[in-house]
Parts: sequence; structure tokens; C-alpha cells
Amino acid sequence: MSLQIETDVPLRALNTFGVDVMARRLVRVRSARDVRLVVDHPELGRAPKFILGGGSNLLLTRDVDPVVVKVEISGLRVLEDDARSTLIEVGAGEPWHGVVEWALDQGHAGLENLARIPGTAGAAPVQNIGAYGLELSDRLESVDVVDFVTGRSATLPAAHCRLGYRDSVFKRELAGKSVITSIRLRLPKPWTPVTGYADVERWLQRQNLTDPSPREVFDAVCAIRRSKLPDPATVGNVGSFFKNPVVNRTIRNEILEEHPDIVSYPLEDGTYKLAAAWMIAACGWKGQSLGRAGVHEQQALVLVNRGGANGADILNLAQAVQDSVEQKFGLRLEPEPVIV
Ligand SMILES: Cc1cc2nc3c(=O)[nH]c(=O)nc-3n(C[C@H](O)[C@H](O)[C@H](O)COP(=O)(O)OP(=O)(O)OC[C@H]3O[C@@H](n4cnc5c(N)ncnc54)[C@H](O)[C@@H]3O)c2cc1C
Repeated sequence: MSLQIETDVPLRALNTFGVDVMARRLVRVRSARDVRLVVDHPELGRAPKFILGGGSNLLLTRDVDPVVVKVEISGLRVLEDDARSTLIEVGAGEPWHGVVEWALDQGHAGLENLARIPGTAGAAPVQNIGAYGLELSDRLESVDVVDFVTGRSATLPAAHCRLGYRDSVFKRELAGKSVITSIRLRLPKPWTPVTGYADVERWLQRQNLTDPSPREVFDAVCAIRRSKLPDPATVGNVGSFFKNPVVNRTIRNEILEEHPDIVSYPLEDGTYKLAAAWMIAACGWKGQSLGRAGVHEQQALVLVNRGGANGADILNLAQAVQDSVEQKFGLRLEPEPVIV
């Protein structure tokens, strides 16, 4: 089958901020072979490209000139299942939450802390999605990619993806150069719940669940997320807009002296993660608006589209928040989404 090139495609419904911009050209790829067709295409092959999944980690600031390659590769299957682990393979276009639910329904637990994260499975390694004490890097086995220049396929073991805190090789050297076409996840056995996260622990305690099942952890995560995060179907947002700053002990102690209530978490390597949400709230931004963009009432890390906001409105607000935090704490917050 040949590729369908769509022109002047509105992207408003294809990004969860709901920003109203256009893609000059858009192609949908439903297999690794389709990606190779794009690479070999006389018109598209050499053109700059932008890979689009679910648009839930993007801030679009203008019409997109590069060819938008929308990844719609489906497929879910169990490759191995033995006493020690289950290995599943997932097409890059599968909705991530559907993957978590499907695995759980098949009796394969281990992803439940990552429930209700919007977007596609193929984008999950790009920023090494994480929530409630679990990151994709804890489960990722390998990633299949197709090179956008040569059309060659390769399998990258997780160790080669350089997964870090909301970071990977796909946000750096390979950004826009390699399309992830499928991913493999290894779920270890026996299953042990990841419940160290305060919100999850509190929720389980309230339900008197001292020995929770995978389904109960899944339900806890879904309930907590529903209560705290705005649903992009009703309020445009991309989840956390800023990363939590990671600082050394000296800087953390200096900030602590001036702001004894600041929330911080020690990391294994001796550094500290500071709660950006706390810092933004301390600057008085929680629930505030600037033009058509705002800071969410319940979660100060989340910037929202209050209606009709464009990329510039959201960027202006982001910069104002960054300036306030820098003035008060001496640290500049780093945005989490990809800004186009
Ligand atoms: C309400 C809400 C809550 C959220 N909560 C969390 C959370 O708890 N934890 C978390 O980590 N994130 C969270 N996010 C952010 C977002 O859901 C994730 O980053 C998600 O993985 C993005 O997937 P996507 O398919 O929408 O990617 P997109 O936004 O479409 O793309 C993001 C980036 O990945 C690239 N990309 C996409 N697909 C591919 C591919 N197949 N191959 C190569 N590159 C690709 C794009 O070019 C772009 O640079 C949240 C977002 C929302 C809206």
C-alpha cells in the first residue's frame, strides 16, 4: 500500500494542550515497513520530519513545517512467560494506558504504577515515563527503531537508550532521527507492589489494604490521578510542565536554610530532588492565570489551557513561573515537554 500524504491538517485534536496549529503535511505509519516507505519516498525522504504520538508531551508554538509522521503501529503480544518473568512486545502506536490494562487483564502485573499516563507506548522511552515510584526504565527490555535517514531497522537494548529522569537518547542524539516502532517490557516475578510513594501508601491504608493485589494498586493509582490531575479531554494540559530540579547537598542545604518547609527527596547518588510544585506554589502561582493559560488549582506543576490559548500564551506563563522561581530560590526550572 502506498502512503497517504494529508495536507494542512489541524493538530488541535492531536495535542493534549489543544493548541490550534496546522501540519502542512502529515503521514500515518502503521508498521515499520511504512516508516521505510517514508524514508524511500521521493518527496518525503529528504524532508525534515517530526514524529507524533499522542501529542501529550508537546507544546506546539506554531504551524509544523516538518512532515509530521504520526505513529499508529499497533500490536500487543506475550513473547516469553516463565517462572522468573514475562516479556511483552508492544507496537509503538498502542495507547500506553491500554497496555497497562491489557497486561493486568492477562495476569501480567508490574506496570500498574504507570496507569493513566496518556500517550503512546512508543513515546514512553523518549522521556522515560515515570510515576508513583516506578519508571519505564525499571521494565524496559529493548526498543525497535527505524533510522530516518538510512531506513535501517535496529534493536536497542534498554541500556543503550540512556534512560534518565524524564530523559533518554531519543530526546538527545537520536531526537527526530529514529522512529521507535515497538518496545519490549520485562515484568519480573514474583510480583511485588511498589507502594513506597506517600500518596499510594495513604490511599491503600485508607482502604485497609495491607497486602494489596496488582489490581488494587492499579485502582489506587487511577483514583489518585483522577483526583489530582486535570483530564486533557476537558482541560488542555500535558501533565507536569516542569521537571523537579535535582541539586547537590550544599545547594539543597542553602535553600533549606531560607525555606525550611521546602519538600525534597534524597536520591541514591547523594543528590536531592526538590518538589517544583511546592516551589511554584510558594511563589503564589497555584490557581493563577496569565492571559489564556493558567497554573492548575490542585497541582502547581501542571500548566493548563484556560480556553483558546496558543503556544505563546503557554510559553509566556511558563517563563513567568520560571522567573519567579529563579528569583525566590535561585534555580531555573526546566520544562518537561518537547517545545516545537
Ligand atoms: C494528564 C497528563 C498526565 C501525565 N502524566 C505523566 C506522568 O505521570 N509521567 C510521565 O512521565 N509523563 C506524564 N505525562 C506526559 C506524557 O503523557 C508522556 O510523556 C507520554 O509518554 C507522551 O506520549 P505521546 O505519545 O503523547 O508523545 P508525544 O507528545 O506525541 O511526543 C513526545 C515526544 O516523543 C517523540 N515521539 C513520540 N513518539 C515517538 C516514536 N514512536 N519514536 C520516536 N519518538 C517519538 C515526539 O517526537 C516528541 O518529541 C502526562 C501527560 C498528561 C496530559
